[in-house]
Amino acid sequence: MACEVAIFGRNHGVFALISVDEALARILSHVQPLEPERVSILDAMGRVLSEEIVSDIAIPPFDNSAMDGFAVRSADVAQATPESPVRLAVVDSVAAGYVAAMRVEPGTAIRIMTGAPLPTGADAVVPYEDTSDFDRSKDARLAAPADEIEVRGAVQARDHVRPAGEDVYEGEQVMVPGRVIRAQEIGVLASLGRESVLVHRRPRVAILATGDELLEVHEPLQPGKIRNSNEYTNAALVTRTGGIPVRLGIGRDTEADLIERIRSGLERGADLFLTSGGVSVGDYDVVKDVLGKEGQMQFWQVRMKPGKPLAFGLLTGGVPLIGLPGNPVSAMVSFEQFARPAILKMLGHIDLAKPEVRAVLDDPLTNSGRRAFVRVIVSQRLGNYHARTTGEQGSGVLTSMSKANGLAIVPEETLYLEEGSEVAVQMLDWPEGMGL
Ligand code: AMP
Ligand code: MG
Repeated sequence: MACEVAIFGRNHGVFALISVDEALARILSHVQPLEPERVSILDAMGRVLSEEIVSDIAIPPFDNSAMDGFAVRSADVAQATPESPVRLAVVDSVAAGYVAAMRVEPGTAIRIMTGAPLPTGADAVVPYEDTSDFDRSKDARLAAPADEIEVRGAVQARDHVRPAGEDVYEGEQVMVPGRVIRAQEIGVLASLGRESVLVHRRPRVAILATGDELLEVHEPLQPGKIRNSNEYTNAALVTRTGGIPVRLGIGRDTEADLIERIRSGLERGADLFLTSGGVSVGDYDVVKDVLGKEGQMQFWQVRMKPGKPLAFGLLTGGVPLIGLPGNPVSAMVSFEQFARPAILKMLGHIDLAKPEVRAVLDDPLTNSGRRAFVRVIVSQRLGNYHARTTGEQGSGVLTSMSKANGLAIVPEETLYLEEGSEVAVQMLDWPEGMGL
């Protein structure tokens, strides 16, 4: 960018504050869908297809009955009513999985079960309910199958018949790359005879928390120390998004320690790094310096609140690193805006946007010229979504995220939103795009 000057080392240089949209576009320009891998169809659940699926068969493969009843020639029963039924001789019986030995000739019928192939000569099925067999119990029917039935209702050609290819025709393109595999796609693949499919590989996302103040979860608190929560939030978010978290532990606020951990992440095959902390303007904020030494910083600082001190760069070899802010709320909000779409793109997703609704504000909101992401509770009342804030919005107050189910977006240029105004809200827990 025009006003960007790349100087690294203790003096981080001058980086222009950029918009959320520009930051996202620049991050996405440096990540690509990962290469395909073959997985069994059950393991493909939630993954993104990287091949086209064309059917080499028709589904169903043959005309078959949609009902339990009698396969008939529709012309034979065109006049049938309950008052003047038509009598037909029953010449055979066919269950699902078998083929009738006989043909349906004029004046005859073949008893047929749902899913059984329509016998030659028949063009329709009369349901049991419309025949004299309906008067008899199942036991009676099995013990002494009727050799003649009364048909009490007319059918037209193709009635109660599922034609071959009704679901999928031979040669049909059934799925295209980018389709997210759900239970129904797995079922379709099974019916096509596909045991495995090609999906995009899942990214390995290295997670590195930084800060001399950080303690492991099991450690007792000590003066000046806090527990490391970002690593856990990030690992959980990576998993939820479909990536594989690779945890690099707590990095100390020294260049040497961070460099060593980043190198170990590269050795462990990281496709993306997520650091937290160390990207602000404090004396020990060394992530940016490390990015300069081990790669190249692309931008620093985004016009958003919370989450301003975001850093992005490429490590030597091109592996992207998103330097999330340290404050736990900022880290999460920044993950949702930047890391989530990057991971989704690597997974092959086409729809990278977080689901949004328009909601009526129950509280007024003030803003300061940056795009604000306000933790809100969205509820539905009389067909409208309503949003109220979770209260204290400090970027260190992680329970504000825990209370929230959405992030209300206040645009940069909007400095005040009164109660009752409409606002866009990103829904935190709604499922990812389906690529439909
Ligand atoms: P920093 O940007 O490194 O100055 O961190 C900003 C704030 O976030 C500080 O109050 C840190 O203690 C806090 N912080 C940084 N990393 C973590 C973490 N992994 N877990 C919880 N809090 C953190
Ligand atoms: Mg720090």
